Amino acid sequence: MNFDEYLKSKVDEKKSAGLDWKLRRLGGMSVPRCKVEGKDVLMLCSNNYLGLSSHKKIIRAQITAAKQWGAGSGSVRVIAGTMDLHTQLEEKIAKFKHTPAALYFQTGFAANAGTIPAISGEGDLLVSDELNHGSIIDGVRLSKAQRTIYKHADAQDLARVLEEAATKGYTDKSGQKQSYNRLFVLTDGVFSMDGDVAPLDKITPVAKKHGAIIYVDDAHGDGVLGECGRGAASHFGLEGKIDIEMGTFSKALGVVGGYVSGSQALHDFLWNNARTFLLSGSAPPATVAGCMAALDIMESEPRHLKKLWKNTKYFKKQMKGAGFDTGNSTTPITPVMCGESIKAQNLSAELFEQGVFALPIVFPMVAKDKARIRVMMNAQLSTEDLELAVEKFVACGKKTGVLQG
Ligand SMILES: *Cc1c(COP(=O)(O)O)cnc(C)c1O
Repeated sequence: MNFDEYLKSKVDEKKSAGLDWKLRRLGGMSVPRCKVEGKDVLMLCSNNYLGLSSHKKIIRAQITAAKQWGAGSGSVRVIAGTMDLHTQLEEKIAKFKHTPAALYFQTGFAANAGTIPAISGEGDLLVSDELNHGSIIDGVRLSKAQRTIYKHADAQDLARVLEEAATKGYTDKSGQKQSYNRLFVLTDGVFSMDGDVAPLDKITPVAKKHGAIIYVDDAHGDGVLGECGRGAASHFGLEGKIDIEMGTFSKALGVVGGYVSGSQALHDFLWNNARTFLLSGSAPPATVAGCMAALDIMESEPRHLKKLWKNTKYFKKQMKGAGFDTGNSTTPITPVMCGESIKAQNLSAELFEQGVFALPIVFPMVAKDKARIRVMMNAQLSTEDLELAVEKFVACGKKTGVLQG
């Protein structure tokens, strides 16, 4: 088998298991009524929670910045790629998150993959929630620290793991018993598959008790949770208590780019050590200006966040009333549980036929018997949109056997 044949055989394996990613092109902006592969559909699977990706003020800010500052930054941040805009954005992020400082990365993935291996090393232990996002997992893999997991969202199990680490330590290369230098607790703020929120009110004291540093990935919390959408720390009243907060502009904030916020010392350290930051060109001016405009809108236009939660409550209530199991989500992420993969896939296909775009999440992303359609609520959906969505879910749910009767 030559290399291309090998690659093709691997894709064919995925195809025959129904696990391949199909091409689904949007024919315009990501808005509730959009075109996907030429078909008019109701968009129910975008992370653009607040509809900011089509917000006129953001688009205008991007155009203005491109005209004034150009198409690209010209370099990596630390050489010649830091414009006034980049530092202005970082000041804005820090203000928004109520932290002393922040560093902007090209993406959230780059923030996790660059920060985690930079802050941890040999002699440290990274303790990760078992359901953390893949970009945390990859960051952990790049670190020279030891690693372990605790049960999902389980502060008691976290306490057990940290106690064990404190009493047992580890064995170094020369066979010597050592105690860990530093312990880190890593968790998503909101878990993207189930929509549950990490119990930071319980996790933080456990971490503090063991002197562990706490790292929260707020990708699905930013723009969704807390006052003005400041994220999970604000939601729990824990501002100033989380050592490291990481987030993204690619979801509720409607643009793209990651950040890490925390102390000035953390900022300066990452500026010098995070390899995904140091070795990769900085974000273009339009992107940076767009992110700044998005943060302004979070504070000046609270109606988007209010509408997001109103829609979330309404949709969950209607779906439950219609007999669907929407899991234990407490956020706009709304899993519609289907059971086996094939049922979720059939329901999604049927929905698309009927003009509703909502994708299935199947094994290996979730357990084999926990396949679901993941509906992402959105502030721009109207009541008529939501009614249509529920009506189509009921009709297609019955047809595919997800809904009984
Ligand atoms: C989406 C996501 C990321 C990656 O963010 P990008 O900015 O899109 O690269 C990281 N962590 C979590 C939990 C996410 O959901």
